[in-house]
Amino acid sequence: MASGVRNGGTGRMSGRLDRQQSSTATPKAAPGKPRLSAAPGGGGSAYRRTSSGPLPSAAGGGGGRASSESGVSSRVRVAVRLRPRNAEEQAADADFADCVELQPELKRLKLRKNNWESDTYEFDEVLTEFSSQKRVYEVVAKPVVESVLEGYNGTVMAYGQTGTGKTFTLGRLGDEDTAARGIMVRAMEDILADITPETDTVSLSYLQLYMEMIQDLLDPVNDNIAIVEDPRTGDVSLPGATVVEVRDQKSFMDLLRIGEAHRVAANTKLNTESSRSHAILMVNVRRAVKGRNEMDVSMSAENGHSSSMVGSFRPPIVRKSKLVVVDLAGSERIDKSGSEGHTLEEAKSINLSLSSLGKCINALAESSAHVPVRDSKLTRLLKDSFGGTARTSLVVTIGPSPRHRGETTSTIMFGQRAMKVQNMVKLKEEFDYKSLCRRLDIELDKLIAENERQRKYFDDEVERITAEAQFRIAEAERECKIVLENEKMKYHQEYLDSIKILEEKWKVHQQSPKKQIKETESTSNGEVQNLLQNEKVLRQSAEDESNDLKNQLSHWKKMEATATAEVVRLRKMLDTEASQKEKLEEEIGVLKSQLMQLSLDADETRISLDTGDGPGKIFPGLDSLMSHTRSSQPREQSNGPKAPVAKLFEQVGLQKILSLLESEEPDVRIHAVKVVANLAAEEANQEKIVEAGGLTSLLMLLRSSEDETIRRVAAGAIANLAMNETNQDLIMAQGGVTLLSMTASDAEDPQTLRMVAGAIANLCGNDKLQTRLRGEGGIKALLGMVKCGHPDVLAQVARGIANFAKCESRAATQGNKVGRSLLVDDGALPWIVKNANNEAAPIRRHIELALCHLAQHEVNAKDIVSEGALWELVRISRDCSREDIRMLAYRTLTSSPILQSEMRRLRIEC
Ligand code: ADP
Ligand code: MG
Repeated sequence: MASGVRNGGTGRMSGRLDRQQSSTATPKAAPGKPRLSAAPGGGGSAYRRTSSGPLPSAAGGGGGRASSESGVSSRVRVAVRLRPRNAEEQAADADFADCVELQPELKRLKLRKNNWESDTYEFDEVLTEFSSQKRVYEVVAKPVVESVLEGYNGTVMAYGQTGTGKTFTLGRLGDEDTAARGIMVRAMEDILADITPETDTVSLSYLQLYMEMIQDLLDPVNDNIAIVEDPRTGDVSLPGATVVEVRDQKSFMDLLRIGEAHRVAANTKLNTESSRSHAILMVNVRRAVKGRNEMDVSMSAENGHSSSMVGSFRPPIVRKSKLVVVDLAGSERIDKSGSEGHTLEEAKSINLSLSSLGKCINALAESSAHVPVRDSKLTRLLKDSFGGTARTSLVVTIGPSPRHRGETTSTIMFGQRAMKVQNMVKLKEEFDYKSLCRRLDIELDKLIAENERQRKYFDDEVERITAEAQFRIAEAERECKIVLENEKMKYHQEYLDSIKILEEKWKVHQQSPKKQIKETESTSNGEVQNLLQNEKVLRQSAEDESNDLKNQLSHWKKMEATATAEVVRLRKMLDTEASQKEKLEEEIGVLKSQLMQLSLDADETRISLDTGDGPGKIFPGLDSLMSHTRSSQPREQSNGPKAPVAKLFEQVGLQKILSLLESEEPDVRIHAVKVVANLAAEEANQEKIVEAGGLTSLLMLLRSSEDETIRRVAAGAIANLAMNETNQDLIMAQGGVTLLSMTASDAEDPQTLRMVAGAIANLCGNDKLQTRLRGEGGIKALLGMVKCGHPDVLAQVARGIANFAKCESRAATQGNKVGRSLLVDDGALPWIVKNANNEAAPIRRHIELALCHLAQHEVNAKDIVSEGALWELVRISRDCSREDIRMLAYRTLTSSPILQSEMRRLRIEC
């Protein structure tokens, strides 16, 4: 018997001990540990089971099946639930206490034996009469449902006396009160919520077991369904039962209702009560295992081929699991007297399954070697769902009435024994070979088509290559033939020539001895004889010599041919070298003379122009230099060749000229910078020069050259380039103002200062550069240059100041400039006042203009007064020869309040 019973009433029990034992049990069941499935005749591995219903995928049973299983040991979990007193009990047992007392927080139940004695039992859960259906579901069934969703089989059973609430606990639909929903309804809700409808399926069968007959509650005509066990795997199935796929809760509820109606009808027909039959709901869950195909699944090598599957040809894995909910028949003893209208045999049969379940549980709890699974339909049906490879929860229901103490006690004992049953839950995954097969078929078709395509391509390719090769062979043969023919003819000709030469030589030889013979005929015979003899010898030696010569000739011919070829080759090389050298020398000569000529021209021009500026030119010095260069050349060449600079430009290329700026030789550098300056004077060339990096090179020369001539010419070139707004930005960006200022401070030649001042003056005319120009010392540099006193320099300074004042005035009018003029800040006013009436017209005009611009803005008025510029303005307004400037001065004087009040104070009128 169960060891969880203590009759001594001390309240200690072994339930806790059992739990501890179970929690330390190893995952793989010990071999000696009996299970329902280990029963004799169970056949095959206890770890195997088939789908219990004809699920779509398993229906055909098609193909082999490999599975992956993992086992976790756990005990059957048992909860006890107490039904509240019903109306009858409340009336009848009003004076009696309940036979049980629950201690839910301690998970204990006290069963009163009498007024002073009770036995205490411990359960996994103790559910009082107040426990909600929700709580009952959560502690009893939810863990099983979750494990079913993970792929394990699971069973929830209710055991107890009729009327204690088994059906209430399991089968309530909750139509009238949603809180009353029982375990079946809630389990299905959880299952449907968790599955993925696209890949997973849920189907169910609903059965009744009565008198050892299994009846289909979804198709009651089907009332003797056979249990089939797979002899190999031990899996249990009911192929004859209706299986309905469930997609939503409503259809499930409808099925339950239909089943319940059929159950009532069937029991009426059989003349029995539903409490005598077991109701069995079987829910089959089939889920696709996602994201596992790529992983290294450790697969059972049982089928041999499964381990060789790789990559995309690994079959999809499906997990099949089964939830069995069993509303057992009432556990009370059946009156064997037949008072209920049954024969003894019938009574035995009715009781068989339940008593057999009790026996099996006892055997399992006591680790008996024999578990009588085969004794009843119920135990056979539950073989793979109870105590074996499934997670099992049992709820034992009891009533409070002391009148049923006996039944209650036996129910509690049943529960206690069940708590000792170990489960070996198994996770089983199967490979879906059918869908793999379909995929492979598609893949195969694809490959066949691809193969056909490739074959065709290959054949075409072979054909093409063969044709090409044949064509090439024919071509080569033809070429060979021609070459051979030519060679043959050449040698034949050579042969004929040499024969001819030899024959001629031979003839010459033969003629000379004949002559001698004739001459000596008149002489004596003896002598003739001798001569003849000599002649013979001579002839012989001549013949030898001739042969010798022949040989030598052919040898020399060969030698000569090689030598001639070599000589020809060398001569050719020599010629090429010589002509290249000549060309280069010529080019150098031309370049040199052009450079010299150009620099001479430039020098001459500069000297001739040093005398003065052209009227009205912005930058007359360089402009004249430029125009001189332009006009001096064409004087004698109206239709003739182009000017040397342009010619040079075309012949040599700008890049080459610019590269000469960095030449090691100072002479070359000077000539080069002069040429560049001349080119820069031509507006058409300016862009090209800047693009080719000429501006940067010129600024480099300012920075690095020791030679003032170079710096002067470079500054001149920069001044010319500075006429263009884009170039002005570039000059500023490359620190040009600082370089120009440095050049000015080092300069000794006023012409250098003129060039620098001209460049800065051009920059002064750019509205956007005002602040930077001043910030980098541009104005100070300009003012610094006036001390040289040269009118050309002063004119450029004046132009710069006028430009600057004009831009400032424009900015102030547009509201872009506030505050005093930067020119005033940098101390330009005294010099302006001093030179406002300069006798050189260009200087004077620029300064007058600058002064008018400054005076236009009231912020400068005070300084104008304090520096004495007012007088100059008055003079300009009266005497300036240019009317526009005169009017400007007048307008300025009359519109400025400060100047006006000062004039009033000094009593000046304008
Ligand atoms: P069983 O299926 O065990 O024969 P039932 O589930 O049919 O018992 O319950 C018998 C009666 O007791 C029913 O009327 C049922 O509504 C009521 N009942 C059972 N358990 C409870 C409970 N926990 N709370 C309230 N009523 C209950
Ligand atoms: Mg019932």
